[in-house]
Amino acid sequence: MKHIHPFHCASLLILLALLAAWATQAQNPQKVSKWPHGVTYEIFVQSFADSDGDGIGDIKGMTSRLDYLQDLGVEGIWLMPINPSPSYHKYDVTDYYDIHPDYGTLEDFKTFVKEAHDRNIRVVIDLVLNHSSSQNLWFKEALKDEHIKYWDYYVWAHKDDPRVQPVVRKMPDGTERPRRTNWNLVPNSDYLYFSHFGRNMPDLNFDNPKLQQEVFKIGKFWLKDVGIDGFRLDAARHVFPDERAVDNHKWWEFFLQEMKTVNPDVYIVGEVWASTEIVGPYLKGIPALFNFDMGLEIIKAINEENGSQLVDKHLKIREFYQSINPDFVDATFLTNHDQNRIMSSVNNNMDKARMASSLLMTLPGSPYIFYGEEIGMQGTKPDQYIREPFLWNLREKDQLRASWIKPRNSTDSTVLALAVQQTDKNSLFNHYKTLIHLRNSSKVLTYGDLSPMKLSGQPALCAFVRSDAGESLLIIHNLCQTSATLKLPQSYQGYKTVWFATKTPLLSSRQVQIPGYSTVILTK
Ligand code: CA
Repeated sequence: MKHIHPFHCASLLILLALLAAWATQAQNPQKVSKWPHGVTYEIFVQSFADSDGDGIGDIKGMTSRLDYLQDLGVEGIWLMPINPSPSYHKYDVTDYYDIHPDYGTLEDFKTFVKEAHDRNIRVVIDLVLNHSSSQNLWFKEALKDEHIKYWDYYVWAHKDDPRVQPVVRKMPDGTERPRRTNWNLVPNSDYLYFSHFGRNMPDLNFDNPKLQQEVFKIGKFWLKDVGIDGFRLDAARHVFPDERAVDNHKWWEFFLQEMKTVNPDVYIVGEVWASTEIVGPYLKGIPALFNFDMGLEIIKAINEENGSQLVDKHLKIREFYQSINPDFVDATFLTNHDQNRIMSSVNNNMDKARMASSLLMTLPGSPYIFYGEEIGMQGTKPDQYIREPFLWNLREKDQLRASWIKPRNSTDSTVLALAVQQTDKNSLFNHYKTLIHLRNSSKVLTYGDLSPMKLSGQPALCAFVRSDAGESLLIIHNLCQTSATLKLPQSYQGYKTVWFATKTPLLSSRQVQIPGYSTVILTK
């Protein structure tokens, strides 16, 4: 970040006074954002910080890095699944009431939650309820006998049921092949079970009131007995079959009401990975939803160096969501653990990665960042290679680096370790930190409305006004390499002071020159 440039200062004294005031604010910004409107940090525990040298990240390691997260300015942590599971990613749970032994114990986790709360950081865990693991005791018991209680925890069909008959697909060469279905035959039995995500992840039966009660019990256990602040709901649109969307919407309303009985402030954010129209109706039961469309739009704008449509698209999405739930939380993000990392999505172009984060942090929403995004970790599918170990320090000095996987993308030769970046004020890490703190200290950036500034013939510029309670900021991003001059129409000429800039702009009364790949924020 370069220096602020007050415009039209009457004297050098005023300039110095303003600079001093700004410097004080930067060193000790007053935090105005309030959970859940701050920044949330998504962690894959397995890859984050390994405290005992077994190569697998763990809860104690994560606890030891809470000061780092507080310093970065995050207000919430979302943990990918921490329950026992046979898979590395843990999205197939064998015990909903415990912690994976690789990660630690329930006591370790309670300590983590307390330490996080002591730093005003909330904790949200992934709740994977659409399906369990096929190794879950419930499923193993169910397989034994259809009269066992747990049978009805799952979705079954008799082998003669018309729904489960093999569907044959005719191939172009005239041959026939069976089409994959979501029904799986139990060997030596007359029954098949339903699984949306593959045979090792049998779907739970949400038509069964006993299963519903079990799910409430699980939720209340984590909220009340363990003390977390909320859940990220995995695969929220699939708990009932996809064609029963209304049942899905209603179920989450029911779930939210139940959770509020033990924690009226419970935060629930849902993964409904679909277009805005499908996401919207879930907002009544899931007050925060990930804005997948917005992330894609930001990446598109960055890669095409064309920001002309971005604000209109964001506004359209927000207005639609607001019409369903006026209090909705817009969980914005660039990419998450299921998508190629943002750095890789912009072809490892550092300038573009910076611009993507600048857009995320200055547009409305409650931004999520994926661990390692702030140091420019790279990652492309398959999934485990977007979830590689965090680089705390150079390999030979790194006491916390996990080693359960040999990284393909984020290594010492492709990514500067955090400790190195912390010493460089121009690093990507310090760019993230600066923007997060800027946002946290500004009511306008955290809560303000959004209105586009119409530009013609300058597609590389993305300009908009954020305003809140009589205050407003004019934010201009230049998404291309070359410097651009924006002529300020009469109605914008009141923005006379540079409030923040990532590179030094030139401001006069009627125009502002924005250096390539940079952001300027003007105030009145
Ligand atoms: Ca470990």
